This record gives sequence, C-alpha cells and structure tokens, in this order.
Amino acid sequence: MKKLSLLFLLILSGCLYGQTQPYVLLVSFDGFRWDYLNRAITPNLDKVIDNGVRASSLMPVTPTKTFPNHYSIISGMYAENHGIIFNAFEDEHTSEYYRIGDTSAVRNPKWYRGEAFWETAERNEITTASYFWPGSEMNDPERRPTYFKRYKHNEPYKNRIDGVINWLQLPDKDRPHFITLYFHDTDTYGQHYGPNSRELNQSIQRLDSLVGYLNEELRTIGMIDSVNIIYVSDHGMTEIDTSRIINIENILVGLDYKFGGSKPLAMIEPQASDYDSVYTRLRKNEFHYKVYKKENIPDHFHFKNNDNIFSIILTADIGWSLVNDKQLANMKKYDDKGNHGYEKESLDMHGIFIAKGSNFKRNYKTGTIWNIDINPLLCKIFNIYPNPEIDGKLERIEFLLK
Ligand code: AMP
Ligand code: ZN
Repeated sequence: MKKLSLLFLLILSGCLYGQTQPYVLLVSFDGFRWDYLNRAITPNLDKVIDNGVRASSLMPVTPTKTFPNHYSIISGMYAENHGIIFNAFEDEHTSEYYRIGDTSAVRNPKWYRGEAFWETAERNEITTASYFWPGSEMNDPERRPTYFKRYKHNEPYKNRIDGVINWLQLPDKDRPHFITLYFHDTDTYGQHYGPNSRELNQSIQRLDSLVGYLNEELRTIGMIDSVNIIYVSDHGMTEIDTSRIINIENILVGLDYKFGGSKPLAMIEPQASDYDSVYTRLRKNEFHYKVYKKENIPDHFHFKNNDNIFSIILTADIGWSLVNDKQLANMKKYDDKGNHGYEKESLDMHGIFIAKGSNFKRNYKTGTIWNIDINPLLCKIFNIYPNPEIDGKLERIEFLLK
C-alpha cells in the first residue's frame, strides 16, 4: 500500500511538473531594426503585438554585431565578459582566431565564457533545443542544447519552422520547452541594399509571412496558446556609402600596428615603440570617428575588460566606415548600402523585442529595453536562478510579465 501511494505521488508530481513547465520559443530576425515594425507591412507581427508586449526598441551591446549580441541575449552578459568580442578576433595569448565562418572555432567551447540560457535550463532539468543560434553547437554536450543543428546558411526557412514543430510534437518526456530559431534575411538584405530599399521591405514581408506560417503550424498541433514566443533582433542597420570611408592605412603610413575589429568599431594594436606616434596621428585626424586609449574607453561601452581588446579603439560616426586597404577593396567590390556595428546608443542600431504568450501581458507597450536582460527574464519564466555572473537585471524587464 505504502509503495503504491509513493508511486502515485511520483506520477502526480511528474504530471504536475510537466504541466507547469512553460514553453518558450526565442526567434531572432538578424538585423531587424526597431522601426521596421512601423512600415505597415507586418500584419502577422502586428497581431502578435496586439496580443502581447512590444518594447519600442531593444538596446544591443557593444559591438553591435551578430555573434556578440546573440551571445549576450542568450547569456545575459556584455561581450567583454562573455568573450565573443567580435564576429572575428584573435586570442591575445595564443594567437588563435575566432571567426564565424570557421566551424571548428565556432564549436570550440573555450571562446564562450558566459553560460547560455540553455545550459542554465538543462542544469535545472529543462530540455532545450536550437534551430541555430551562435554558441549552440559547441563541442561539449554539457554546454549545448539537447537538440541542436549545425549552422546551414541556406537551410530553407520553412524547414527551420517545421523542425521546431517536430520537436514540439515529441513525446512529453523528450519534448524541449525552450527552443531558439534564427533567420538571417533582414541582415543580408539590409546590408546589401540598405535599410530603406525595396529589397529590404520585401525581406521584412518574407519574415512576417513566416510568422504567419509558424502560427498556423502551432495552431495545427494545438499549441498556439501554450507556447510563449519572443521575437528579437541582435542589432539594427544604417545606410552607408563609399563617400564616407576613412582608410586607417593612409593615416598611419610608416607606423607598425595590428588592425582589427569591424568597420565601424576598429581596434589598433601598435608596436610598443610606435604607440605614441600612432595615438597622436589618430587624434590629429579625428574627424568622423572617436579614438580611445583602452583605459579611457567610456564605462557605458562595457567594452574594455578583456585581454583580446586592443590598446586603442576607434568608433566611427554613424554611416562612416573605418577600413584598411583590404577592407576598402572589399567595400568597393560588394558596394553594400547598409551596415551595423555603430555605438549601441544610436537608435539605428536598436533591434526589436516583441513577445506573446500566457506569461506575458497583453496589448502592452513599453520603451527601450536591454538585450542582456532577456536571460534573467527567461529564468523568471522558468522559475530558475540565473547564473550569478550575468550583467542583465530582472528588475529592468520583469514588468513585461503577467
Ligand atoms: P554580421 O556580419 O554581423 O551581419 O553577421 C551575420 C551573419 O552571421 C549571417 O549572415 C550568417 O551568415 C552568420 N551567422 C548567423 N548565425 C550563425 C551561426 N549560428 N553560425 C554561423 N554563422 C552564423
Ligand atoms: Zn546580425
């Protein structure tokens, strides 16, 4: 009899546990600027907003690039702390390179110093899955989601949604409760044609119709009301053109230095003997960019306390590009009309945050929120403790929940 009631209790608690665990789908639209939602071409996202919450914009971290920001969203940390300081950078101590196109680097856990939400969740017995997200395919089963996909840029978008729907139809005990999903479309078209182009608007519409498809599929499997869906983007986009380029090599002729970073946020590591001359010349030519010695980088950048950041950084004014000869040649070749990577306070660099589901308020609008706060928000939804080292703060975002 005792054994039977124990068994009954175990089954009951199992059922209750299963029932009470929420579902969250975190969707990223790369480079989807906050104001694309105001173009009256997103009927499906508009419906999500009516039924859920919308922040006027989502503040990214420095640098406003893809990998640093996706990893900030998922880990709740600034890039200086989580370690992915650019899409490509060098390890100061070992001279190894991290680069988003290099699969072995991207899968090497050594670069990722934060704890992604899926790690925190899995430690708390929550099964997770990722249909793409920077950091999700690490070569360490302890640090990646139970289900994950190797990044395939050309994977058709519908397949990605179908993959998520398949995961949500797994038997209860195997089914993931937290899932990520990623689409690069608005970044690619924004970068190539510019944020004000017809092509970019078509890209927005393409993503919006995928939202419609996702909802239909969730309705078909009877989960439309049980999944919280959060739509975010990693950064925005601004117009650039070839008349606003600063070639660092022209300024630093005859001096010895290493050049790194991205076009709007460049890093310079001078040979020790040339440090003063490099800095002086950069200061003398300080038009359309700002130059900072590492120790003087403003605190609000949160981009200083990391050995892989060079000893001088330059931030381009919005729309301007800081390049070396090689990058200049590439810029001319591709003739891109848009870019990102500018200061995170610039509104053009802000992304979106929209969420709907049983845990979120309905028809609720608020101002700008910070992407590092999404990790503690997820922890709150799942009722688990965030990693104590995160920079994000629940109190800045908790009010979006019911
Ligand atoms: P960005 O240069 O910052 O605009 O980077 C955007 C690019 O990052 C996209 O076009 C993708 O090709 C790439 N990307 C996004 N997610 C991943 C991933 N999980 N693995 C590899 N590359 C990715
Ligand atoms: Zn991006």
